[in-house]
Amino acid sequence: MHIEATADAIIQKGTVCRIGLVDNGLAYMVPLVYGYDRAGTLYFHSSPRGRKMDLIRAGGRASFEIDIVDDIFARDATFPCTWSVGYECVMGEGRIEVVEERRRKERALTAIMERYAPPGEWTFPADVTARTAVLALAIESVTAKRTLKELTE
Ligand SMILES: Cc1cc2nc3c(=O)[nH]c(=O)nc-3n(C[C@H](O)[C@H](O)[C@H](O)COP(=O)(O)OP(=O)(O)OC[C@H]3O[C@@H](n4cnc5c(N)ncnc54)[C@H](O)[C@@H]3O)c2cc1C
Repeated sequence: MHIEATADAIIQKGTVCRIGLVDNGLAYMVPLVYGYDRAGTLYFHSSPRGRKMDLIRAGGRASFEIDIVDDIFARDATFPCTWSVGYECVMGEGRIEVVEERRRKERALTAIMERYAPPGEWTFPADVTARTAVLALAIESVTAKRTLKELTE
């Protein structure tokens, strides 16, 4: 899916993605580090066990949210209603699946590494890749919102 430029920039810039899963009628939100393929897929890694993995295997869909908090500012510091938080945020939905194929898992793990670690060649031992669960969330819809200080002046 084509990701519109503002959303694309925020996803590239973010640090933590919260995925939302439905558990017995309630949202179960889980913060995760992520990789991003600009064709429209978010990647995650995880233990193969746990509540989130059970819900993903049972459901196949997830919502997600990424935000970057900029700063707290006020147009008039003496007046409470003029205080704001500057932020950039995306919210969206998509299909989430457990990636099983080894090369695709390695590409996803590389995509995660590339966002957090200095540039380098990453190799993943086969036993580590085998015992790590990798998730792909194919974005189907996403919206972006920014309330930065310079945009409100
Ligand atoms: C900034 C950040 C980045 C993270 N990145 C990753 C990542 O890349 N991969 C990854 O697998 N995990 C990551 N985690 C941990 C992640 O949020 C979950 O704790 C973890 O994935 C286990 O989820 P689970 O559903 O299997 O929990 P389970 O082990 O099944 O949890 C059982 C219960 O513990 C509680 N619980 C679980 N996680 C949390 C939590 N984070 N905070 C408070 N209570 C909790 C819930 O009540 C849950 O029902 C990250 C956490 C943070 C804060």
